[in-house]
Order: sequence, then structure tokens, then C-alpha cells
Amino acid sequence: MKKPLTAKAIYSITPFTLLDYPGKTACIIWFAGCNMKCLYCYNPDIVLGKGKIDFENVLSFLKSRKGLLDGVVLSGGECTMHKNIIPFIEKIKALGFMVKIDTNGSKPLVLKELIQKKLIDYAALDFKSLPETFEHITQSDWFSEFEQSFSLLMDSVIPFEIRTTYHSSLISESEFIKMIAYLETRNYEGNYYVQHFMNNVPTLSKLENSDKKIRLKDFSTTKIKVIFRE
Ligand code: SF4
Repeated sequence: MKKPLTAKAIYSITPFTLLDYPGKTACIIWFAGCNMKCLYCYNPDIVLGKGKIDFENVLSFLKSRKGLLDGVVLSGGECTMHKNIIPFIEKIKALGFMVKIDTNGSKPLVLKELIQKKLIDYAALDFKSLPETFEHITQSDWFSEFEQSFSLLMDSVIPFEIRTTYHSSLISESEFIKMIAYLETRNYEGNYYVQHFMNNVPTLSKLENSDKKIRLKDFSTTKIKVIFRE
């Protein structure tokens, strides 16, 4: 008999969004906890807090949304670090929803299984920075795992996006240009979304305001379109 999905891994649910799954109506499942501690993280409560909702309760909620939503976004926190994430997504897929994951790329083995089992339909992969600043920004040592996750998505047929949160005191303009060059060396083509750090919101670490002048320039190349997001 399969184990019930009783662990309380979920911090909260956003019942409806038009913004977080490209072209789809969706809800967002926020997983508690993260194996990174990015200095600029906007979700300190979720990253440092405990889960309050178990998988079975989320599945009951999703059953009530069948036919009303196209997809489910698994965000957090870091969804791929949770035990039972694979059987949980299997159940979401069995209900007929499309699944998007937001991931920091630290769990390539989990990502590989999700891809092989055709359990995800879209992925948003964080590109935190290059190795020189990765550890400082994320307070973790997962760059090589990020690279493996990036390769897995590049080799798959799953649509995905690469995205970075930009803070001027954490990533200089010249480093940012090197990040775009890195994506080119990895043969990435398409949109590169850059979310500028939002000044004056609670974050994991207290940061000075970020200078927004980088947004005034066009960093796009022939293969990569750099798109700044709010
Ligand atoms: S911003 Fe960093 S710490 Fe916050 S949820 Fe994402 S990976 Fe985790």
C-alpha cells in the first residue's frame, strides 16, 4: 500500500494566478523551506517557516479546481527538496493539471526523474550568479548542481525559462554581462528574465537599495533576449 502523503510540506496556497504560469490559469503551491538562503529572498517566512498544509489537503483543494484551472505552479521555498514530491506530482497530473515548477536547480536527480516520467510541463530555473559570487548570494554551494539541472532542461523537450534576481551590490554590470556570455557558451537561446530587486520589502538579509540604472540598457544578444521584469 502506498504511504499517505501526510507530511505538512506546504506553507500556503495562492488559489488563482494569471501571472505565474505563462499563458495558463493556475494556482500556486508554496513549499516551506529552502536549501539556499539567498540574501535577497522575498519569502523569509516561507523559507524559514514550517509547513502548515499536507499533500492530501492540497490534493482535495485541487480536486475542487478541476476544470477551473489549467495548471499548478509548485514554488516556495524549493519544491524539489521535499520527500514525496514525485508521488505528489503524479497525483496532480492524474487530476489532469499541467505542472510548472519554480526551482533553484539544486536537485538535478529529482529534476531528471520528473523529466523522464513526463511529470512537468514547464520549468523556471533560477540562475543566481556565476561561481565567483554564487556562494555569497545563495549562502550555499549548489552551483555545479545548477549546471546539471540546466543541462537536463537544455537536453529535454520541456519548455523552460532562465531567470535571475538582480541587485546592484551583489552582481555588478560586468558580472551580469558575463552571465549572459555564460548562457551563450551553454548554447541557450531565447528569453532571459531578470527581476530587479524590489527595494523596501522584507528580505532574508538586510540589503541596501539596489540601483536600477541597469534597466535602462539593452543587454540582448542575437540569441538571448534579456527581459527585465518588475
Ligand atoms: S530566493 Fe533563494 S532562498 Fe528564496 S526561495 Fe528562492 S532559492 Fe530559496
